[in-house]
Amino acid sequence: MAALWEDVLYNEPVIREAALLAVDAALLEGVLMRTEEEPNASDVVNYAPFTLLPSAVPSALFEQAYAVQQDFNLLVDAISQNKEFLERTLASTIKVDDFTAQLFRIYTQVLEEGLAQSVFLGINRSDYMFDRGVDGTPALKQIEINTIAASFGGLTSRTLAVHRQVLKALGKSEEASRLLPNSPSKGLALGIAKAWELYGSQSAVVMFLVEEVQRNIFDQRCVENELWNRNIRVIRKRFRDVFEKGSLDDARRLYIDGQEVAVVYYREGYVPKNYDLQNWEARLLLERSRAVKCPDIATQLAGTKKVQQELSRPGTLERLLPGHVESIARIRATFAGLYSLDLVSASRVSMSGAGMNVQGEEGDKMAATAIADPDWFVLKPQREGGGNNLYGEELRQVLEKIKDSPERTSYILMDKIKPQPSKNYLLRAHSPLTVSECISELGIFGVYVRQGKEMVMNKSAGHLLRTKAVEHADGGVAAGVAVLDTPYLV
Ligand code: ADP
Ligand code: MG
Ligand code: MG
Repeated sequence: MAALWEDVLYNEPVIREAALLAVDAALLEGVLMRTEEEPNASDVVNYAPFTLLPSAVPSALFEQAYAVQQDFNLLVDAISQNKEFLERTLASTIKVDDFTAQLFRIYTQVLEEGLAQSVFLGINRSDYMFDRGVDGTPALKQIEINTIAASFGGLTSRTLAVHRQVLKALGKSEEASRLLPNSPSKGLALGIAKAWELYGSQSAVVMFLVEEVQRNIFDQRCVENELWNRNIRVIRKRFRDVFEKGSLDDARRLYIDGQEVAVVYYREGYVPKNYDLQNWEARLLLERSRAVKCPDIATQLAGTKKVQQELSRPGTLERLLPGHVESIARIRATFAGLYSLDLVSASRVSMSGAGMNVQGEEGDKMAATAIADPDWFVLKPQREGGGNNLYGEELRQVLEKIKDSPERTSYILMDKIKPQPSKNYLLRAHSPLTVSECISELGIFGVYVRQGKEMVMNKSAGHLLRTKAVEHADGGVAAGVAVLDTPYLV
């Protein structure tokens, strides 16, 4: 099969002109980011990096990813309500990983006090790559699911128009008309608005909890604007503001600057560097409150890599989603090989029952296998935001060093997905225009709202395609590696 866009890919004058048009279109459509130099000011902004051309995505896999999203929503929500599962799954991890341990402490503390929150809002993004099977047929494999601060739903809603225009300029109007509509920012806002409404106070606001460094503010503004359009008031605050000015009343209603907060939407709080002692205090205050947290701390824990690995164990999905036979089959079909690196001794101390020793033995076996053949695996710590995983020689060295230490338990091991690369131009400010060998990652946004025990909304809310040059093993758009893309179904 001929590669997509092959007729124009190496036509330099045509590509050059298309790139100029593309960049201006991106600026006009609002595919924007603040600059590295001035991450907290909008005086000078630039376009967020994106591909010149849409990338090919197999339509069957695209449909499969959409079809399983409501199942993943159900699953994440079920995990977040299952204390026994979270405790058992994270027991070995929290002994060695301070960040997960601190989240877990807050989780336990909030449960002991009793939840004031009764409306729950989940916004997640399940990410996939297309693995090249033995016979060359691509298969959809989940990379991870992000249950906190899943980003780029806003900017990707505006990338489509850019790619449509580029294709038209290249004389490909028919292809342009085939690009699918996509507006995650609307879907995300719909969920937030529903949670706000169920919270039930007309005068209460939605609080976006944002980082100290806010380069990706336009992505968030897309969602904010949708809320303003629905006459819902939005405020932007940092942990520091919550620490200084946040309080709870007797019914644990959350107030900041005298305003009641109905929904806290975290675009912050997902990595250790987001926290100092005061910020942990602020997090605890938010979690104790009645406000709808998106996500609550249990749902954040449900998105850890350790939980992902445990889900792939035989019988786990059946226990978490009893009776949901078809959902389980759809979910399991997307799993790549995932392996525990728990130690035999660590599991003996922490757990009763023979089952956990099996994990320890698997840990020893898999550590040895990965050291012998690192190129087949990815070593993942309990971190988010890209750039934390280990590959190849580095994986081997690190695993060799920690293979008999409890530190090994803070990682999981995953089969490396090897997609078929394709060619594209990655447009990035101040970078030369050259063709790159690329691979893509497809994300599907999921939104759900639960009131007490009842699911009142469970939807997929659009997609995100991110593409990067093959030489970068890791890292997303925010990490400066991947760029925004639009799927072209083939
Ligand atoms: P994070 O939470 O930091 O985004 P991910 O699990 O998504 O962690 O890993 C970051 C990046 O590493 C992914 O976007 C992908 O490019 C790459 N990656 C992760 N897991 C795999 C895998 N199993 N095979 C190939 N690449 C992977
Ligand atoms: Mg992640
Ligand atoms: Mg990721």
